[in-house]
Amino acid sequence: MISTSNVSLRFGGKKLFEDVNVKFTPGNCYGLIGANGAGKTTFLKVLSKEIEPNTGEVIIPGNLRLSVLKQDHYAFDEISVLKTVLMGNQRLFKVMEEKDALYAKPDFSEADGERASVLESEFAELNGWEAESEAGVMLAGLGIKDELHQKLMKELDPGDKVKVLLAQALFGQPDILLLDEPTNHLDIYAIQWLEEFLYNFQNTVIVVSHDRHFLNKVCTHMADIDFGKVTIYSGNYEFWRQSTELAQRLRSDQAKKNSDKAEELKSFIARFSANASKSRQASSRQKQLEKLDLGDLPVSTRRIPFVGFDPKREAGNDLLTVQGLSKTINGEVLLKNLSFTIKKGDKVALVGRNDVAKTVLLEILAGEMEPDSGSFAWGITTTRSYFPTDNSKYFDTDAGSLVEWLREYSDDKDESFLRGFLGKMLFSGEDALKKPRVLSGGEKVRCMLSKMMLSGANVLLLDGPTAHLDLESISAVNEGVKRFKGTVLFTSHDHEFVQTVANRIIEIDGGVKEDLSVTYDEYLELKKNQLEGAR
Ligand code: ATP
Repeated sequence: MISTSNVSLRFGGKKLFEDVNVKFTPGNCYGLIGANGAGKTTFLKVLSKEIEPNTGEVIIPGNLRLSVLKQDHYAFDEISVLKTVLMGNQRLFKVMEEKDALYAKPDFSEADGERASVLESEFAELNGWEAESEAGVMLAGLGIKDELHQKLMKELDPGDKVKVLLAQALFGQPDILLLDEPTNHLDIYAIQWLEEFLYNFQNTVIVVSHDRHFLNKVCTHMADIDFGKVTIYSGNYEFWRQSTELAQRLRSDQAKKNSDKAEELKSFIARFSANASKSRQASSRQKQLEKLDLGDLPVSTRRIPFVGFDPKREAGNDLLTVQGLSKTINGEVLLKNLSFTIKKGDKVALVGRNDVAKTVLLEILAGEMEPDSGSFAWGITTTRSYFPTDNSKYFDTDAGSLVEWLREYSDDKDESFLRGFLGKMLFSGEDALKKPRVLSGGEKVRCMLSKMMLSGANVLLLDGPTAHLDLESISAVNEGVKRFKGTVLFTSHDHEFVQTVANRIIEIDGGVKEDLSVTYDEYLELKKNQLEGAR
């Protein structure tokens, strides 16, 4: 069992959590939930001892193994797939690395020979000879084809990368598995696979996620970070939502009752404390008043940002023509002779099994990648703003504060204007002075959205804009994109977002497989009927 004793953590003046005393019991799957920036990733890092808390300690009995699947999927980019998995067994991996380095030495000394024999016996003791084949079997089990095992991690598509990192985490045969937003880069098929896997996993799982459906499927408990505390609830997400909503309602009803009662008591005291015949009653009321709990209700970190996109000028009718686009990456044909046109005001959801193909299409249209062949032309009155799936390059910056970061992307350089803007996106006061590098995943997305809102573009290219966001921010983005008067081309795994935003669905399967002016639900119904008709 992993547990915490009086764990507290703050960054500068900001308290994330204080005096946390929780236990994670074997056999359970805990969904670690909370607003963007509440401290979920940080808490996982405290549990895995990557970060030392300010006070208190994490207790993990010595014989328990702990593995982590982090949000950072780029750390292993220059390493081969198989080696990435082997790194999951740190002890074995270190022995292998040292052994390889020794044998590669041109001047192999006697001392090296002695060291090599120590390493060889340690290697044998750790079942080193079987390790590679075991890693291969694990990868195959996760659906990573043999021909990918020697490739570099950067050559894999995002879904496969997550699977390899999961294989790495499992390779150490963990008793405790920590996962940080594992579904973010997975398509629905891979998510289903992961749900099944976690459902059958026998040991302790602690998983950070904002995906309600996923949390409901896999979790036996919720660990909620809010009000500066971590609170564990039994049951899945829906159970947690209902019970906390009820508790919240009861708390505010009680607070209202107390405040009404206080008003009544105060008015009695004011009227009768100077009245000799009623002064005893007045002082008894005074005692009642002192006993009443009139403290402010604790403030939740769950807040709703303001998202609104205002085009600086309207686009003409001539919006976008795409003709015969083709693109192959690492031998995989992603786009093949793809053609379509977009009209002003279209809100187009790009759908289809291959997420990479849709990402590549948006990258090409945003001017970030060249097609192999074919062409596309934006109308001259269009101005575009692009939201990429991978925003890491925007935050690889030396900007000293968020104000400084946003100033780069704004015509109006005035500090109070920029601060006002950041405030709408929940970075007020001290938070506007944070360094962009330290932001959480969801906070980075909020910054990217601020940048897009400032652009005044009349076309939005959005590649998965709701990934990483908490529910409050998702609904704000949903509303903002719905209200937007311009044209949108987007991808999303969020059913409700696609359903409420899209008025046209383009299904990509190399080329355009379907192009329909329907809602997402109508499209899904149509696909279902097609499937049934084909049977
Ligand atoms: P999300 O849902 O967006 O992933 P989270 O709950 O996982 O958010 P964390 O990544 O744990 O949030 O970050 C918690 C807060 O701590 C954020 O406001 C973040 O900006 C801040 N933070 C993280 N690391 C540092 C640091 N090294 N210095 C200062 N602040 C930091």
